[in-house]
Amino acid sequence: MATSTALPKEVRAKYEPVIGLEVHVQLLTASKIFCGCANRFGDPPNTNVCPVCLGLPGALPVLNRQAVEFAVLASKALGCRINETSIFARKNYFYPDLPKGYQISQYDKPLAEFGHIELHGTNAGKGAGTTKRNIGITRVHLEEDAGKSIHDGFADSASSTYLDLNRCGTPLIEIVSEPDMRSPDEAYEYLTKLKEIILFTGVSDCNMEEGSLRCDANVSVRPVGQKEFGTKAEVKNVNSFRFIREALEYEIERQIELIESGDKVVQETRLYNANEGKTYGMRSKERAHDYRYFPEPDLLPLVVDAAWQKQIEATMPELPDARRQRFVRDFGITAYDAEVLTASKSFADQFEEAAKAAKNPKRVANLVQSELQGRLKAKGLTIEQSPISMKGVAFSADLVESGAISSKMLKELYDLSFERNKDFPLIYEQEGSPKQSTDTGALERIIDELIAANPKQVEQYKAGKKTIVGFFVGQVMKASKGQANPSVVNELLTKKLES
Ligand code: ADP
Ligand code: ZN
Ligand code: MG
Repeated sequence: MATSTALPKEVRAKYEPVIGLEVHVQLLTASKIFCGCANRFGDPPNTNVCPVCLGLPGALPVLNRQAVEFAVLASKALGCRINETSIFARKNYFYPDLPKGYQISQYDKPLAEFGHIELHGTNAGKGAGTTKRNIGITRVHLEEDAGKSIHDGFADSASSTYLDLNRCGTPLIEIVSEPDMRSPDEAYEYLTKLKEIILFTGVSDCNMEEGSLRCDANVSVRPVGQKEFGTKAEVKNVNSFRFIREALEYEIERQIELIESGDKVVQETRLYNANEGKTYGMRSKERAHDYRYFPEPDLLPLVVDAAWQKQIEATMPELPDARRQRFVRDFGITAYDAEVLTASKSFADQFEEAAKAAKNPKRVANLVQSELQGRLKAKGLTIEQSPISMKGVAFSADLVESGAISSKMLKELYDLSFERNKDFPLIYEQEGSPKQSTDTGALERIIDELIAANPKQVEQYKAGKKTIVGFFVGQVMKASKGQANPSVVNELLTKKLES
C-alpha cells in the first residue's frame, strides 16, 4: 500500500499534479521486427537469436511488414494520424542487454501523431460517461525491444547478472501521452482504456507480468493556477496499473513536501518499491542529446501510403466505446451494464451472440450482473473462466422469461453449476427440468411423510378446514428445495388428504 505521508489536506489542495505516460507495447508478430527469429515469450534463454538481433558486425536489418501493420492499426485505434513517411533512428546507449550499443527507434519523424483517448471518469464510481475528457497522445512510434538482464533467482545472484537476449528485436510501439492527466485516478483510467483498445485490436496481449505492456510515468506538481509545468520525475518499471497509481500518489506528495520545505524537485528517474509504497531516485534523467540520435543508415524511410493505410484500416474491429454505445442502443441496457459486458472482446462477442439469440437481451444482461458476477468473484474467476457460458445465461434467461422456472430455482441451478463446474443447460437437464420436479414418486414420498408427521392438521382438513392445504404445500415446497411444481403438489396433496 502507498504509505500516505502526513501531508495536510489543505497543503495538498494548493498543488495540481501533472502526469504524462509513456507506454511500451510488444506486438504479437510471429517473428521479430528486423530478423526472422521467433518472437515468443518463455523459450529457453538465448535460443531465439541470430546475427541481426545480436548486433553482430555486418548483419543488416529487414523490416517486418506485419509489425508495421500492427503499429498502424493500433495508432489508428488511438485516433492518431499516420505520417506517410517516417524515419527509423538510432538511439545510442550502453547497456549489457543491448549488444548492438544502440536501439533502432524513431525520433523526429514518428509513425503516428495527434491521437487521444477519451476518459469517462469511471473511477468516480458507477456514473460512467458523466465526465468525458480527452487525453492527448503525442506520438506512436515503432522500435525494437532490448534483451533482459536477470539480477536474481540464481545461487550466485549477489555477484552475477544473467543475460537473456531472446527479447532483443521484439517489435514494440511506444505510445507517448501529452502531459494532460491531472490525478493518479486519471492515469489509471487512461491505462485501462489504452490496454482495452489495444486488446480489441488484437495486436498485443498486453500481459504486464510478461512485460508485453510496460509503463513509465512522468509526474510533476505546480501551484494551482500556475501555467508553467513544474520539474518532473519519471517513475519506471512499475508492473501493475494499481502500483502505478500508488507510485504516483506517493510521488506527488513527495514533490509537494520538497517544495513546501523550500527544496527543489530534481529531474530524475525513480523506481517504485511496491512493498514499501515508496519511490527511490535511480539516476539523473538522460536528455535526448545524450542518446546521439541519428537516422538509421541501414533502413529506408518507412512509407505507409494512403492505399496501404486503407487496407489496414479495413481490418479494424469495432472498438470498445463504439460497441458499448451500440449495446445500449440495441439491447436497452444501461451504460454501466455495457461497460461490464465489454470487459474483453471475446466476452463482448459471447454476450452479443447470446443476447441476440435470447428472447429478452436485457434479462441476459441483468443475470450476468445479478447472478454471474458475484459467484465469479466469490470463486476468484474471470468471466472467461465462468462455468456458465453466455449461451447458458441466455438459455436460463429464456426459462425465467417463459415462466418455466422461478428465479429462486434459477439461483439454485446457478449454485449447482458453480459447484459442479458444469454449464447451466446441463445442470438444468440433470436437476431442474420439469420432468424431475414433477417426479411424482419423490413428491408422494415427501407428502406421505408430512401427512404422517402432522395428524392434527390432517384432522382439521378432514373437519372441513380446506385452507390447511396451504400449510402442506408450503412444507412440500420447502422439502423439495423449491423445485417442485406447485400445481402438481396441490393436486397430489388434495388426492391424498381426501382419501
Ligand atoms: P523527455 O524529454 O524527458 O523524455 P518528453 O517531453 O519527451 O520528456 O515527455 C516525456 C513524457 O513526459 C510525456 O508523456 C510527457 O507528456 C510527459 N511530461 C513532459 N513534461 C512533463 C511535466 N512537466 N510533468 C509531467 N509530465 C511531463
Ligand atoms: Zn534474430
Ligand atoms: Mg522523451
